[in-house]
Amino acid sequence: MPKVDHYSVLGVAHDASVDEIRSAYRKLARQYHPDVSSAADASERFKEITQAYEVLSDPEKRQRYDMFGDGDVGGMAGFGIDDLFNTFFGGTRRRERGPVRGADLRLEVELDLEEAVTGAERAVRVPRQETCDRCHGSGAEPGAKTSSCATCGGRGEVRQVQQSLFGRFVSVATCPRCGGSGKTVDRLCRDCRGEGRVHAEREVSVAFPPGIDDGQQIRVGGQGESGMRGGPPGDLYVLVRLRDHALFRRDGDDLVHVLRISPAQAALGDELSVPTIDGGEASVKIPGGSQHGQSVRLRGKGVPRLHASGRGDQIVYLDVVVPRSLSKEERALYQKLRALRHTPEKAEDEGILGKVRDALGG
Ligand SMILES: [Zn+2]
Ligand SMILES: [Zn+2]
Repeated sequence: MPKVDHYSVLGVAHDASVDEIRSAYRKLARQYHPDVSSAADASERFKEITQAYEVLSDPEKRQRYDMFGDGDVGGMAGFGIDDLFNTFFGGTRRRERGPVRGADLRLEVELDLEEAVTGAERAVRVPRQETCDRCHGSGAEPGAKTSSCATCGGRGEVRQVQQSLFGRFVSVATCPRCGGSGKTVDRLCRDCRGEGRVHAEREVSVAFPPGIDDGQQIRVGGQGESGMRGGPPGDLYVLVRLRDHALFRRDGDDLVHVLRISPAQAALGDELSVPTIDGGEASVKIPGGSQHGQSVRLRGKGVPRLHASGRGDQIVYLDVVVPRSLSKEERALYQKLRALRHTPEKAEDEGILGKVRDALGG
């Protein structure tokens, strides 16, 4: 890299004022801007001009440049603090030649409540990057000639000498031509165009254990994206979303179900059948004197406990529905009941209405 004097690049005197520097830069930048100029070295000149202006327009940088002279400071343009720091402390010797694990993938799957109860096996479509079959991940067309990379001489990394205020620094970066492998081939793989990986969509069978709940995820080991340069594949994570059910609302391992009954059934008690999540029916005994909002528990008719034994309960909420229209006979009976009792009993528990409202979410 030839050392260039910033003052002569801009064509200004060493004691030029800031205004003089600015106007010199404007003139030259317009002349050599790569979009405008047809000169072969336009972009190179433009870079020089810009670099010179960056240093000389900043009083602090200009002072340093004047003190150390000979263009060292100029080398710092575009040389960030991080680069400098890392060159000092050897932080960025990134070598990307070794195996790299494939990325993890995340998918969502919707399940019915029944499937969460019984457990389910589902084929899930997974779009992902896989090792190319044609080249086995090398990126080279089968039969292609391999040679040592001319850019890095087969080392896989390139050294860049940079001038800075503190002296010369050597930074090491992955070779941009061979991507760090140290080798180049004369023909790239036809299927993956040298990437070593191809896009594929696979069906992966995912097992959801009984008791799985909304928001939980299943990890399927090794079903993420393929690794690179012999690295292991990533994992697949499947997030479970439960669909709402027409009859049941899940509450942990319990299933809540609402049963409508008449005032007479509440007062006298009854034995009724209710649907269960297994698709069958269960008999539920309503005790006489049941109040609206009370519940009856059906033990073991809920959701199986995840990775444990036993099941939760089915909780049957009693919804006492007062008839909106009455037949002639019913009207006569209700009139009789009204005549028999003018004032209702005192509630056993003053707080019961509040509890009901909580239970029904009202
Ligand atoms: Zn390939
Ligand atoms: Zn290389």
